[in-house]
Amino acid sequence: MNLVDRDRQHIWHPYSAVGSPSPIYPVVAAEGVRLKLEDGRELIDGMSSWWCAVHGYNHPVLNEAAMQQLDKMSHVMFGGLTHPPAVELAETLVELSPWGLQKVFFVDSGSVAIEAAMKMALQAQIARGQSQRHLFLSPRGGYHGDTLDAMSVCDPITGMHTLFQGVLPKQVFIERPEPAFGEHCTEQHLAQLKQVFAERGDQLAAMILEPIVQGAGGMRFYAPEYLQAARRLCDEHGVLLIADEIATGFGRSGKLFAVEHADITPDILCVGKALTGGYLSLAAVLTTDEMANDIASGEPGVFMHGPTFMGNPLACAIAKASIDLLCANDWQQQVLQIEQGLQQGLAPAKTFTHVAEVRVLGAIGVVELTHPVDMSSVQPMFVERGVWVRPFGKLVYLMPPFVMSSGDLAQLTDALVDVVANLQIKDGVAVPLSA
Ligand SMILES: *Cc1c(COP(=O)(O)O)cnc(C)c1O
Repeated sequence: MNLVDRDRQHIWHPYSAVGSPSPIYPVVAAEGVRLKLEDGRELIDGMSSWWCAVHGYNHPVLNEAAMQQLDKMSHVMFGGLTHPPAVELAETLVELSPWGLQKVFFVDSGSVAIEAAMKMALQAQIARGQSQRHLFLSPRGGYHGDTLDAMSVCDPITGMHTLFQGVLPKQVFIERPEPAFGEHCTEQHLAQLKQVFAERGDQLAAMILEPIVQGAGGMRFYAPEYLQAARRLCDEHGVLLIADEIATGFGRSGKLFAVEHADITPDILCVGKALTGGYLSLAAVLTTDEMANDIASGEPGVFMHGPTFMGNPLACAIAKASIDLLCANDWQQQVLQIEQGLQQGLAPAKTFTHVAEVRVLGAIGVVELTHPVDMSSVQPMFVERGVWVRPFGKLVYLMPPFVMSSGDLAQLTDALVDVVANLQIKDGVAVPLSA
């Protein structure tokens, strides 16, 4: 049996059924911005493995950091012990993150970071004598992960969790953040936000949102003024603000952290994904001294969370090396170049009748179609053109590694535009012209 058939016997892939006939490609290695398939083909990577691999793959500096740490210890429990990789990474995160965030809680994945952030907010409110505040406010169009509490604040429709209605805690939702990035924000745009704070502000523990870029919930970019208004309203109503920067952190939106577009500091900030440059699963929750002090002063005087692999030394060492590399590489220039390349390269798609919008921010390029893409038939079209692009819903999008050359980027955008040009809408879905 070949690898794909063996895979289909046993393994679930993200949001799939075991044994699903949709195409799946065996990858045997990855180097720089290229994935190497078992059959020898090489694909230029347009996904950074879901926002993570900002330096590309098999990077000598990150490999070296991993080797060095492996020789010392790859893991040790974090209860009652500490080690240089965790301390150095925490110091680096505090130094680089928005002003005022001083305390770091390490976890093993993005969804768990969100769980921990939500629990932190609840514990801080309880400690402040505000235990009636147990709800979270979340804009529609958001994505915060797949565990139960994270799902409860994802977009209730695109979040795919209508299935879990009745089990998930019922949170408070408002419309997607408006206006779009680059557009002028008016009182009208903020009216609903103000209204919900006025009506339910005293029940809210925190507002949770993805700053500026809503990722897996729709790949939309919104105006910094919305974020500033959210910060102001949270302050006025005693509500905490949780910024989920798991996708946007480490330069993706053109700022190191997307909250910098609005020049605000959240009470809690979650990072993950690109934290280790895509090498290992690691995430972190950052918060203020005030939050940490409040939690310590309430019952039971400790923060009630502690994952087994918390502060994993191998992951922390690689993360520290990845952040150092990011700073040494002049990521701002890299992201700016990718932004320009995406703007130029994706522009031709604007004229297609089945394209609703083309938008670019930082190293994120989105071609939104008028109809959802049929993944099974469209995925092979990218592979045939030598690129790795994985659309979802109506969105065909790119978030390349920051180290991609302008030549590779042009090849990637040309391939994407060519695939989209060769689609048609049939029975409400985008399928190949040949279908
Ligand atoms: C991916 C993502 C998460 C969840 O992270 P996992 O590591 O997949 O659990 C949460 N929030 C945002 C914004 C994300 O993009």
